[in-house]
Amino acid sequence: MLNISGLKEGIVLDHIEAGKSMDIYFKLGLDKLDCQTAIIKNARSEKMGKKDIIKIDGGLDVVDLDVLGYIDHSITVNIIKDSKIAEKKSLRLPQKLTNVIFCKNPRCITSIEQELPHVFCLADEEKEVYRCLYCEEKYEKK
Ligand SMILES: [Zn+2]
Repeated sequence: MLNISGLKEGIVLDHIEAGKSMDIYFKLGLDKLDCQTAIIKNARSEKMGKKDIIKIDGGLDVVDLDVLGYIDHSITVNIIKDSKIAEKKSLRLPQKLTNVIFCKNPRCITSIEQELPHVFCLADEEKEVYRCLYCEEKYEKK
């Protein structure tokens, strides 16, 4: 049973691969927010041996689930309401990513027109391959 003590309303990110919580903390931009966040490292897990957990107080809309799904879609997102788990969300690789990964093709329009957003579309879900919207440059996650 996941320990959510102290959290009345918020989000608990569970089953984070041990050691990855700080990386996720920064990638989600949690360092720039002023909501209360707790990071638990190396929590014991029956399923994973060790895992990390992030608890975010009151932050129902602060977490970009697309970004999180891209980083690691095996993370479980628990929505906490009235000190109880109200909902569990599982994540998927997002169909579209904006300014999360960047096109490295020097001939791509995004390297010429720097104000353009870097947009990638999911091309192969199984192989986790994304392609640049403008030049189709491949981006493999693995
Ligand atoms: Zn491109």
